[in-house]
Amino acid sequence: MSNREIHIVVVGGSWAGVTAIHQLMELSHIAYPRLLITLVEQRTHYFHKTGMIRGLVDKGYANQMFIPYTRLFLDGGISNPNHRFVCARLKHIYSNFIEVEGGGRLFFDYLILATGTEYASLPVTQSSTAEECRFMYQTMREAIEMAESILFVGAGAVGVGMCGEVAEMFPKKKITIAHAREKLLNPDLSNDFAKEAEQKLRKMGVEIRLGETVIPFEPSIYSKGSSTTSILHYQHQQKQWIVRPQVLTTTTGSKIECDLAIWTAGSRPNTDYLKTLMLSNPNYPYVDPETGRINVRPTLQLADPRYPNIFAVGDVNSLPLSEKYATSAVNQAKHAVQCLKALMNECYDFRIKMSVEMAIESAQRAPLHPYFATAKRQKTVIVALGRNQEVTNTLFARFNSWAWGTKRGRKYLIDKAQKMLNY
Ligand SMILES: Cc1cc2nc3c(=O)[nH]c(=O)nc-3n(C[C@H](O)[C@H](O)[C@H](O)COP(=O)(O)OP(=O)(O)OC[C@H]3O[C@@H](n4cnc5c(N)ncnc54)[C@H](O)[C@@H]3O)c2cc1C
Repeated sequence: MSNREIHIVVVGGSWAGVTAIHQLMELSHIAYPRLLITLVEQRTHYFHKTGMIRGLVDKGYANQMFIPYTRLFLDGGISNPNHRFVCARLKHIYSNFIEVEGGGRLFFDYLILATGTEYASLPVTQSSTAEECRFMYQTMREAIEMAESILFVGAGAVGVGMCGEVAEMFPKKKITIAHAREKLLNPDLSNDFAKEAEQKLRKMGVEIRLGETVIPFEPSIYSKGSSTTSILHYQHQQKQWIVRPQVLTTTTGSKIECDLAIWTAGSRPNTDYLKTLMLSNPNYPYVDPETGRINVRPTLQLADPRYPNIFAVGDVNSLPLSEKYATSAVNQAKHAVQCLKALMNECYDFRIKMSVEMAIESAQRAPLHPYFATAKRQKTVIVALGRNQEVTNTLFARFNSWAWGTKRGRKYLIDKAQKMLNY
């Protein structure tokens, strides 16, 4: 128990960030009553990215996908004045404060980065207000309805899931999916899993082109270009939602005709803000050059030893692909708060105000435990192909599908997200 005033800033209000906040609020009840928690999130509301595929075809579902943060800090029915929500985009990080777009500064004793990934080619994941997001969905839905033939470029879990939803909803449309690799889905999933998805999509009438890399009209399609997420910017950037007969070429020289090409490749971790944080050793960058994710230690602290008080959790960190699930993001956030608690118990936040050496020394003494990725990893993977079909990798999940129909996968965890935000 301590009455020290401790500032904790959490950036990113999705599975990882919101879970961290719940855990921290619990800590403030039991041991640290003067914990001041701030959530910094670029959106005005929680956006249910996990269900973005369903939102694409189902307007009713899309309307549930924006959940306000207004109930997040409720403590016994009353909003706790020690905690606050700041709607802003994190721009820069320094050793003890962050700067948000527009120049505001927030000082911290501990920082939890939970900024996840965004899909450059699906700007709906970058929308900043519910209104903007609805508008983007509406544009996408109208384009899908108008097009008679649709090409999905990229057959990772998002591409395959999206293709399944559209194929089920519009069985008369000509649908093609092209993938650079020789099998569908991410490389960490088994060949049998990929084969099953392939067979099911073929049965739904989808043409599958494996080993074909589609050449984009504009290479910029993969890069975000600007952080502006206004509707104007979206309209300007998203030429791919314009429906018109087009012929795309692949690197093998073959041609694919369609009215609408939907690019699902190109997910990118949100880490631009790290550039201003001084590195201990320039040979060990914060971000893994291959994956673009933040290098973390087994305790989920930044790999750079200079910042034991900065954690990175969820999709944004360098844990393996088998950890890039909502369930893992939740587990990681819980773990990071446990480590943070050990640092608080060691008075790290108190010492950092006196001398860096003392702080680091105190951080080294704290008993932090490694996060056991393999023990907690997601064991069941479900890729839904519309409301009525799915591919799963475990007998248990197969049994559930058989017994319950495909109800579970179809919700895409929206019920859990509502609960998490106290709705
Ligand atoms: C289509 C799809 C289906 C999926 N299905 C499943 C499933 O069935 N089961 C499962 O377990 N997982 C599933 N996943 C994976 C799951 O959605 C992710 O693992 C999870 O969302 C990761 O959560 P996160 O909190 O780490 O990051 P994210 O959900 O990506 O959230 C990051 C948050 O940070 C905010 N942010 C980003 N940058 C900044 C900044 N600079 N300043 C302020 N805020 C910022 C964003 O606005 C966002 O709110 C699916 C993912 C997709 C895309």
